[in-house]
Amino acid sequence: MQDDLALSAYQLDPEGLDALAPNEPPYRIDQIREWLYAHPVLDPAQMTNLPGELRKSLAGRLWPFVVGIEQTADAGRTRKWLFRSPNGASIETVLMGYRKRTTLCISSQAGCAMACTFCATGQFGFERHLDAGEIVAQIAYANAALREQPIAGSPGRVTNVVFMGMGEPLANYANLRESLHRMIDVIDMAARSITVSTVGVVPGIHKLADEPWQVGLAISLHAADDELRTSLIPLNKRYPLDDLVDAGLYFFRKTGRRISIEWTMMDGVNDNPDQAAKLSRIAHRLSAHINVIAMNPTPLTPHQRPDRMTIRDFMDDLDHHGANATFRETRGHEIDAACGQLRIRSATETPNGAQL
Ligand code: SF4
Repeated sequence: MQDDLALSAYQLDPEGLDALAPNEPPYRIDQIREWLYAHPVLDPAQMTNLPGELRKSLAGRLWPFVVGIEQTADAGRTRKWLFRSPNGASIETVLMGYRKRTTLCISSQAGCAMACTFCATGQFGFERHLDAGEIVAQIAYANAALREQPIAGSPGRVTNVVFMGMGEPLANYANLRESLHRMIDVIDMAARSITVSTVGVVPGIHKLADEPWQVGLAISLHAADDELRTSLIPLNKRYPLDDLVDAGLYFFRKTGRRISIEWTMMDGVNDNPDQAAKLSRIAHRLSAHINVIAMNPTPLTPHQRPDRMTIRDFMDDLDHHGANATFRETRGHEIDAACGQLRIRSATETPNGAQL
């Protein structure tokens, strides 16, 4: 357990910020809290209503990470950061600007223990859980970066958060829960604008359904029978499809929120009429919307993107079965925006920056 003196500002409980400035009066602590959560800035020097000495003392202690790599794509509408914590853990975060929303895809763990075969992060293995402060700091950092450099035509703050970066959020439940509390009760984000994505941690889905917030749930399904699913997502052996669908139904009934099913099409794997029929049946049972994307190939995974005709036939099959489905082009191909890809790039770069 780290003591409070070693923690960055975002890792402290928002109600325990006096650890940052023990001799300051309560109104100063309130001002610091405002800077951290309501109006985040990249550098404490910009905290203009704080005395100079206090700003200096916050320098180096504001963020729980430094920026390792920053990339932009889609004419500046997609930004990706690979943050590094002081102990070397990598944290990937992707910001995407749209016309009416600014969505941030955040990480909940450094690495991941789930070992899904289609995921770059899964091939690295698990490093550690992120704490709630490290999770929320990704949002604060994006808000601070947007303040410096807005995305033209998009809201100047993060309006939507998706837990679809590195890690399985429901395997880090206590920190997920605390981060949701801080997003909703401290940053004042709408619970309905936050989506937790899971590959199927059934007990975690039940716990999330029982929380007081109406956050969204996305189930990364990717296969619609147990044999194929277990071959792609080892966790399916522990929590097979029937249990996962039951948990999804519990979530839907308890929260009233429609679940979304995520489906990454992989060439020759899950892009056939049989999977489309089975997927449609599951979506009907859950009254779920299906988001289909095409595999973004990575050096560490064997799967490829299907061709256009196969994608079109698959979407037609879903339509034929009456499923509610949308094909979505993924953002930021040229910046390794798929989960874990930036980290691969970083790990395979030679010291002079050339690609191996
Ligand atoms: S897809 Fe998600 S759960 Fe599976 S290995 Fe990747 S990060 Fe982990």
